[in-house]
Amino acid sequence: MSRYVYGPVPSRRLGRSLGIDLVPFKTCTYDCIYCQLGRTTRKTIQRREWVPLQDVLKELKAHLATQPDYITIAGSGEPTLHAGIGNLIKAIRAVTDIPVAVLTNGSLLWLAEVRDALGDADLVIPSLDAGSERLFRHVNRPHREITFHKMIDGLLEFRKCFSGQYWLEVFLLGGITGLSVPVKEIARLIKRVSPHRIHVNTVVRPPAESFAFPVSDDLMEGFVKVFGPRAEVIGRCKDLPAEAQTAHDPQEILALVARRPCTLEDIAAGLGLDPVEAGSRVDQLAAAGLLTTEYQGERLYFKAVHP
Ligand code: SF4
Repeated sequence: MSRYVYGPVPSRRLGRSLGIDLVPFKTCTYDCIYCQLGRTTRKTIQRREWVPLQDVLKELKAHLATQPDYITIAGSGEPTLHAGIGNLIKAIRAVTDIPVAVLTNGSLLWLAEVRDALGDADLVIPSLDAGSERLFRHVNRPHREITFHKMIDGLLEFRKCFSGQYWLEVFLLGGITGLSVPVKEIARLIKRVSPHRIHVNTVVRPPAESFAFPVSDDLMEGFVKVFGPRAEVIGRCKDLPAEAQTAHDPQEILALVARRPCTLEDIAAGLGLDPVEAGSRVDQLAAAGLLTTEYQGERLYFKAVHP
């Protein structure tokens, strides 16, 4: 089983996205109440080589035949915590033309070394979930050394120096940030950052905390207008072409759901499997106690059982 590379995952924004996980499970600078991976078990701002880059690259090369639309550095925590992320991006560039995206919570962009490290990516998607210190602390539960102002300074500085695509993700929560006043506060900051695109998201997959609720579709549509013409709601991915028969090993399913809870449709579309076949593989993994299920609304998600 691959330890660091998973998918391709059906991404709502990036098509078929081959994921790279650069930190051990739930190693993060934040402990977001909506996190689909559960609570953070290692909250840190320590940047180091959490996983060996040589091994990551070796696995990546073995997966390139899956022809993903993007190679996406994301995974089960905050990827900029890996001190070698810049070297990894350079090394990927040397072996393939597939564009490289980085999904980051943006919490370390106030560090010049982090901004430099991401300089060679094609696309960086930082997060902005709150427009005030109070809501930032409530929603993202950051490491004590990360203040709201540091985080915002990082987003602004990176916008000035990064020449690739800069998309901002805003995650809204019903009754918390998904209200008119907090949305206006976020909108003011978005205007200052001026990203190329804004993706507005809400709870779709099972969240870390039971009090993290989704925002209704109607409200989401209204809030998107407040964020301006470059903003859009990112819906669930569907009808992604299942072009490549890539996952003949049930362990690939496990590698996928370990980073992100998925419906059966997600698994089938992402890994290029017939849904019936995907169902039987999921069943094997569940019977072996390696998978568990959880409802979010009416949709059933498969999650990995972490030891
Ligand atoms: S949602 Fe992202 S930033 Fe927030 S705790 Fe989970 S992995 Fe960390």
